[in-house]
Amino acid sequence: MTAIEKALEKPHNLSKGEMVDLLGATSREDVEALRGAARELKRRIFGNRVAIRGIVEIGNRCVKDCFYCGIRASNRNVGRYSLSADDIERMAARNAELGYKSIVIQGGEIESEANTRFIEDVLKRIEPFSLGVTLSLGEQKRDVFQRWRDAGAHRYLLRIESSSRDIYSKIHPAGYSWERRVRCLKDLRECGYQVGTGTMSSLPWQTLDDLAGDIAFFGEVDADMIGMGPYIPHPDTPLAASDARRTNEERLLLALNMISVTRLYLHDVNIASTTALEALAPDGREQGVMAGANVVMPNVTDVEYREGYQLYSGKPGLSESTFSSKSRLDASLALIGEVIDYSSRGDSPRAGNR
Ligand code: SAH
Repeated sequence: MTAIEKALEKPHNLSKGEMVDLLGATSREDVEALRGAARELKRRIFGNRVAIRGIVEIGNRCVKDCFYCGIRASNRNVGRYSLSADDIERMAARNAELGYKSIVIQGGEIESEANTRFIEDVLKRIEPFSLGVTLSLGEQKRDVFQRWRDAGAHRYLLRIESSSRDIYSKIHPAGYSWERRVRCLKDLRECGYQVGTGTMSSLPWQTLDDLAGDIAFFGEVDADMIGMGPYIPHPDTPLAASDARRTNEERLLLALNMISVTRLYLHDVNIASTTALEALAPDGREQGVMAGANVVMPNVTDVEYREGYQLYSGKPGLSESTFSSKSRLDASLALIGEVIDYSSRGDSPRAGNR
């Protein structure tokens, strides 16, 4: 039996070595076999439905100084903004109007009582829209996670960025703790969230072995949702100087292989086809779905703020209205035989099956 056949039988049925082989697929034949199997599995679990969440980028002020991120604290070339609670409420209303049953609230990391209260207020205000609510606001104390959970958030996305402690320490300032991030993932679970994590691929120093380790890590923390994407250098960041200068094609291929192998290893988790894929190819998001992802996250932030939220260069959709992006997405998914599921919040089946 081939590794792919084994993987299709049940979750967690690939060795690290087998994952490395699959992640390294480059020939057309191997890539097609890998993507075909991952998509077949996606269809077995979710049919031809794709879940959708609008993402609101609520602000780019950040206390962290991650070496790869365009909104890192010491980047002086970025104008800082924070949406008001009124703004976020209005964007959530638009999200609901578009028929999206879930929303992601993402922003830079801020740790303060004022910010904790602000997010609580936002969560209360958007409750009447009955949306599935994902937060992605970085590392917080357990008590803060609990307060936001009590205020109505029920999913949280916190990427581990790299499961390798060594790479983690090279892409972050001294003192940033990989262990604390893992602790946060445990806290989130204990607070009753559906927990999402993920990593970047094509990071400097990263090998296929490290990426197989990332997928094994997702299994170890029993993640409900995975949000991964290609690392794309941002010129105003220190990591850009260490970059191995991979081509967009190489980054895209590896990111798609990550989606496929993650699907084959974990089976019933939500996997997002992330915006960074679209930065590498105009149809990157569709390619992500064809590689086994089942979630798309269109941007519902007002266009005027998008300039300020460029985590990497070439971020798409800086000027496209929310409404045109919706019809474009509907049409492009229809072309690949998928339909957006406007009827449910698209909770992770993993959470129900656990
Ligand atoms: N501050 C929050 C969420 C915002 S950042 C947090 O820390 O969780 C969202 C994600 O963008 C990060 O987790 C990171 O994986 C990704 N990101 C940042 N810079 C990037 C880059 N240069 N290329 C690709 N992805 C990047």
